[in-house]
Amino acid sequence: MTGRLPAHVLAERIARAAETVRREPCPRCGADTLVARTPDRVAAVDVRADPEPIHPDEIPAGRTRLAWCLTGSQHTRRIRWRDRWHARVCTHPVLLDHACPPQPIQETLL
Ligand SMILES: [Zn+2]
Ligand SMILES: [Zn+2]
Repeated sequence: MTGRLPAHVLAERIARAAETVRREPCPRCGADTLVARTPDRVAAVDVRADPEPIHPDEIPAGRTRLAWCLTGSQHTRRIRWRDRWHARVCTHPVLLDHACPPQPIQETLL
């Protein structure tokens, strides 16, 4: 016994940790954002979303910003792809992809 976890168990834990929704500032603009990897086995995506859920009616047309479902309960939060079939029956809070403001807001006190 070495106390080491088998590689596949370790890989599974790392994957789960990546799927856990975390609050992190955006590295570009410093805004509060939620980050997580989608628990999709085929095409997992690293998502950075604005932390405040929006009303589905506010999702921009033309997919300029993608919408995601915030699923699970407090300790098992996940971000999932919100496809149009699911969207018809969805009752999850909806998150939008984070988009940095065009320019940093700079206050000039002159
Ligand atoms: Zn949903
Ligand atoms: Zn940003």
